[in-house]
Amino acid sequence: MTPLEELRHSASHVLATALLRVFPEAKLDIGPPTDTGFYYDIDLDHKLTAEDLVKIEAEMKKVSDENQPFLRKEVSREEAAEIIRSRGQERYKLGRLADIPEGEKISFYQNGEFMDLCAGTHVRYTSKVKAFRLLSIAGAYHRGSEKNKQLQRIYGTAFPTKEELAQHLEQAEQAKLRDHRKLGRDLRLFVIDEDVGQGLILWTPNGAIIRQELQTFISEELRKQGYSQVFTPHIGKLELYKISGHFPYYKDSQFTPMVENESLAKILREGCSCAEMVVRLDAVSSKLAAEVNARTGTESIAADRIRPDEQLLEGFMLKPMNCPHHIKIFASQPHSYRDLPVRLAEFGTVYRWEQSGELNGMTRVRGFTQDDAHLFCTEDQLPAEVLGCLSLVKVVLTTLGMSDYRVRVGLRDPDSNKYTGLKENWDKAEAACRDAAKTLGVAFTEEPGEAAFYGPKIDFMVKDVIGREWQLGTVQVDYNLPVRFDLTYGGADNQPHRPVMIHRAPFGSMERFCGVLIEHFGGDFPLWLSPEQVRLVPVSEKTIEYGRELLGLLRAAGVRASLDEHNDKLGAKIRRAEIEKVPYTLVLGGKEAEARSVSVRSRARGDDGTVPFDQFLARVQEEIRTRSLPEKKKTA
Ligand SMILES: [Zn+2]
Ligand SMILES: [Zn+2]
Repeated sequence: MTPLEELRHSASHVLATALLRVFPEAKLDIGPPTDTGFYYDIDLDHKLTAEDLVKIEAEMKKVSDENQPFLRKEVSREEAAEIIRSRGQERYKLGRLADIPEGEKISFYQNGEFMDLCAGTHVRYTSKVKAFRLLSIAGAYHRGSEKNKQLQRIYGTAFPTKEELAQHLEQAEQAKLRDHRKLGRDLRLFVIDEDVGQGLILWTPNGAIIRQELQTFISEELRKQGYSQVFTPHIGKLELYKISGHFPYYKDSQFTPMVENESLAKILREGCSCAEMVVRLDAVSSKLAAEVNARTGTESIAADRIRPDEQLLEGFMLKPMNCPHHIKIFASQPHSYRDLPVRLAEFGTVYRWEQSGELNGMTRVRGFTQDDAHLFCTEDQLPAEVLGCLSLVKVVLTTLGMSDYRVRVGLRDPDSNKYTGLKENWDKAEAACRDAAKTLGVAFTEEPGEAAFYGPKIDFMVKDVIGREWQLGTVQVDYNLPVRFDLTYGGADNQPHRPVMIHRAPFGSMERFCGVLIEHFGGDFPLWLSPEQVRLVPVSEKTIEYGRELLGLLRAAGVRASLDEHNDKLGAKIRRAEIEKVPYTLVLGGKEAEARSVSVRSRARGDDGTVPFDQFLARVQEEIRTRSLPEKKKTA
């Protein structure tokens, strides 16, 4: 455990100590540290409330003040069971004891009257646990399985100092206000409908505008870098993914394949069992196995997967990634070295199976659109192409005000054999990634063991305005798929050569990126991304006509505007525009109509004076064209 984990885990013991003082009948399960704090799972008939947490927290304070030492005691398995029983904690703790492998040490930690089965480690005294807070209560199934009883999980956090705790709580408060699920609903950006399915995002008109603007932005950058746009379908034949290796190895993270009607009817007639059907779905023909194994030079497809042709099932998969489709486009015509690099880009929608407990708004979903591209190049071109991909990610992040990031270069683990391909290719690919990262001018770390199985990769870890880190853009070098699909180009020597592939996605996925952007901007999007850019607010009926005229002019100029024709008071109209986070509100009174001017209220600056309409229009057009970042709000 790191020192911080040790502190937080100790805090969970302090929590359990306090809890048993308040609720002696509680049955304890486990209390590990987490990335942001700690929790303890308990079984208690009484349903814990916020008031209970206050009471428990006050008791924790006492336990801390009592300055109890944490004492370790090693015991035999029999003694351990005896201690657990004597404390009335056999319901879950005996099971946890049974989890400890034979031959491993069994230990308890004691502080004051409390004693817990635990491998450790802990801080030395309970007084070290002084900056803590209980945060919430949630339901959690024992051992994470819905078949088991649902327990109550008490979440808390702890830090070495009160200042760090306060800072963390402030950040959490900010995060709550910026929660993309809440803002997404308030600003009508997206919905998730149970009837459509969990983890499937419905982009509503406002959200669709943001996505469209982002896609336009990135498409412009792609054209500058010489990419070609392609479109491919959402499904592909099962066999395609057997060649690529995505099926059946990544089965658990994919939707179940669709079996063709005729194949299905045939196996039903044969009375084929479900188990047999699964085996046949995974199976390949001897021809395919021989081809792929010859190309890769190893037994990539094991002999036990081979079945006679008449037993094979035809089927389709929702595509889990876009690479095989793009590879087929590349392979559809011969290439000379003079044609390379070929850069194929697509906003390609893919589907992955995530456990329902893992789903979270837009940031963890089951269907998402990657801003994907695959580059096919010669080895000599690799360094320059990796660099091009990195500069693209950099442009994207800078434009969106996410300039606080670090770069992680994932390399192979020298002691592992899970990586495919030749050592010299790996050396070249890793050197290309490392050299490219060096030129970025930002801190980067090399992390052995973080490479994909087919090649090294570069990830961007981006900090948002409240200091949280997100993994966004990624660039990966791949020597593996060109082999599996037998891709070639004609070299200067007139011989066929293998191209190298790069997979890259600056945003990652549109869904996740938009979720992060909503939180990053707290809903105050830059003008170019704002679903509504200008709101026209007539002071009275008399200026509605003037408002309509300006609305027409704004729309003709490509500015997203609306006219508030409601009968409310002016103040209410302005307030509504503020709540809806419209960047500019134009107040139109009689004087303004006469002088063809507008009284501007800016989201950032508040009252921003009266200017001729033409001048205002030119200003917003420039702000949109340059994709300016929003100004910091004036704080009152
Ligand atoms: Zn412990
Ligand atoms: Zn790919």
